[in-house]
Amino acid sequence: MPQKILPPGGRNGYFGGLLMKKMTPLEELRHSSAHVLGAAVRRLFPQAQLDIGPPTDTGFYYDFDVDHKFTPEDLEKIEKEMRRIAGENQKFERIEVSREEAKKLIEGTGQTKYKLGRLADIPEGEAISFYKNGEFLDLCAGTHVPATSKINAFKLLSIAGAYHRGDEKNAQLQRIYGTAFPNQKELDEWLKMIEEAKKRDHRKIGHEMGLFAMDAEFVGPGLPLWLPKGTAIIEALEDLAKETEFQAGYVRVKTPHIAKEIMYKTSGHLPYYAESMFPPMELAEKGEAEAESEKYYLKAMNCPHHHRVYAASPKSYRDLPLRLAEYGCCYRYEQSGELMGLMRVRSLNMNDAHIYCTPEQFATEFNAVNEMYLKYFKIFGIDKYVMRFSTHDPAKLGQKFVNEPELWKQTEDMVRDVLVKSGINFVEVANEAAFYGPKIDVQVWSVIGKEFTLATNQVDFAVPKRFGLTYTDSDNGAKTPLCIHRAPLGTHERFIGFLIEHFGGNFPTWLAPEQARLLPINDELIPFAQELAAQLRADGVRATVDTHSDKLGAKIRRGETDKVPHMLVLGAKEKEAGVVAARSRVNKTMEGTFPFAQWREMLKTEITTRALPVR
Ligand SMILES: [Zn+2]
Ligand SMILES: [Zn+2]
Repeated sequence: MPQKILPPGGRNGYFGGLLMKKMTPLEELRHSSAHVLGAAVRRLFPQAQLDIGPPTDTGFYYDFDVDHKFTPEDLEKIEKEMRRIAGENQKFERIEVSREEAKKLIEGTGQTKYKLGRLADIPEGEAISFYKNGEFLDLCAGTHVPATSKINAFKLLSIAGAYHRGDEKNAQLQRIYGTAFPNQKELDEWLKMIEEAKKRDHRKIGHEMGLFAMDAEFVGPGLPLWLPKGTAIIEALEDLAKETEFQAGYVRVKTPHIAKEIMYKTSGHLPYYAESMFPPMELAEKGEAEAESEKYYLKAMNCPHHHRVYAASPKSYRDLPLRLAEYGCCYRYEQSGELMGLMRVRSLNMNDAHIYCTPEQFATEFNAVNEMYLKYFKIFGIDKYVMRFSTHDPAKLGQKFVNEPELWKQTEDMVRDVLVKSGINFVEVANEAAFYGPKIDVQVWSVIGKEFTLATNQVDFAVPKRFGLTYTDSDNGAKTPLCIHRAPLGTHERFIGFLIEHFGGNFPTWLAPEQARLLPINDELIPFAQELAAQLRADGVRATVDTHSDKLGAKIRRGETDKVPHMLVLGAKEKEAGVVAARSRVNKTMEGTFPFAQWREMLKTEITTRALPVR
């Protein structure tokens, strides 16, 4: 499973030359487990050269250079040895040394292949420390649990290849992943969640349900093809977004997928993000010399286009706030190794909008955006979420952060105020804002407890200036508007990937690609079924008829596999009486017999209210 090394934040220290933020107790436990893993591997494979063993967001790993190729049986043996080490209750001892002594210690353990390089990474003046548990000595800044006996609820999970320092020019190492928890109960729950998450993997369900396809051969990696059923979900989501945004006073725009180089130089994407953009197309108009050709880029973001929409006509303070919305398609040149199902792709359709407003309007606008998030969470049954509020560091104004001390303070105070007042669950992290303003990353958990980063909400007080955007204020002066970038539903790709796993493919009826299926019990009843299906389609319901000639049981099973929320069984008796026998996916039972008109109304209500699956 993909795991990320925790990002370096504030300064805590280096281990193996890697700067780590101060560890939480859980990270400390997991990192200590990595030491125990290292110690166990050293006991079983004395020739192994060790690289680093950091905690990750879901556990820990350690990288080894060893001739023997690790097998799942080895993992069992190593895990057993780890239990032995935990049972020995070895104390974690910190030893601080000079650089010279550190070199000698590394040579003494024979771990020179990677550890000497990791030692060299530690800047002059930083403390150099080792941690010792039993016979195992490792270059590390810490911190750790007091003793190995604290490590008892852990499990080794998998083996993967990993290049030293993540660079394919370097040696390929074997990475052993594991996880640890404070107690067995939490470990068991997590393992159960991982099992369930595998069953719900959006790539697997997406394929089974025929929602999207990846065609690396003809289309290219990371460029999903949305099949008819996936497109039905997209359209249901866009309807929701358009309806919600319309009510909130947004206006919609439509912009091209490409723009000239000057656009991205002005926005600052070029040259800084050139690597994550597709290379340019060099175009000369007919009759022009090649020297007059111009570079066009596929858009990696919609903002620059929206800024130009703003600039298309003069604005006064009476025109603000202006809320420009577009389901814009962007292209990002993600590394092929980073591509993952719908979660990381090269073409993305974003639930984008940019709100241009005055500083006085900012708090109200920002609050309204948050309200929209909460409204969506409710519709999708997202009960657990957290907003990560990233702020600037005044010491880095003019370098990492645009030099607008007043605006930083003002907007950050307003954002914080809005978050506190609305009682939204949030954490504040200093020094992680975007260059041009504070931002909020929204993390949500699916019903089975898997975490997803869905969307970002950003304040921007730099780029509108770069584009020369202004409005005439009430005093007739020209002012630069603030801009809020927001995308509550993220991209279709990532959001639908999340929804597939969240619902396990059992979409609520309003989102389900196929909402109702009619099952005639014999071929003579097919025309009647088609007639009813046509009536449902007249209501906008995505209804189909199962025209296969097999038995009713087989038809029901097929409907279940396709995760169709509602099936209607039609026999001669039902036709005669003008009723339908309804079967719901949720209860896996016949709901009963209803006059068709009544059932049709029930279904319509369920869809228009966007009800979560209750029937
Ligand atoms: Zn350590
Ligand atoms: Zn934007």
